[in-house]
Amino acid sequence: MSAPALLDALRFARSGGSLEGELRVDELPRLRDNLTSDDVAVQYHIAGGSEAGRPVLRLRIDARLWLTCQRCLEKFPERLELSNVLSVARDEAELERWESEDPLVDALVAEAPLDVASLVEDEIILSLPVSPRHEDGRCGAGFQA
Ligand SMILES: [Zn+2]
Repeated sequence: MSAPALLDALRFARSGGSLEGELRVDELPRLRDNLTSDDVAVQYHIAGGSEAGRPVLRLRIDARLWLTCQRCLEKFPERLELSNVLSVARDEAELERWESEDPLVDALVAEAPLDVASLVEDEIILSLPVSPRHEDGRCGAGFQA
């Protein structure tokens, strides 16, 4: 019922489309270790628009994840709220041109239909902390010393 399907990113961006939905663990296979199997774990909202003359997707993601503390190796829950703006290039050539103009541009190529779940998954993976830890004083390892 929720299956977010595929998006024609360029058309979506140019027409100012808007899409929101929820994803469950089985739709986010690369995040299996960070999610529990029960309820909805990730909510997303994507809106099309344009910035600096480029078609863009504005992405908002609200995820409830489990991270493994690198100090005591116990899992703890973390809420991740992130937003990003992705420029949508027509093809590789356009993407390269944008990257040469602006090395910090965050862009994707609109050649293939865009898999929304995969896009959301990518964004979450990029935002995961490299070395997650409990807040100071809440770490299990701290109390055993
Ligand atoms: Zn810890």
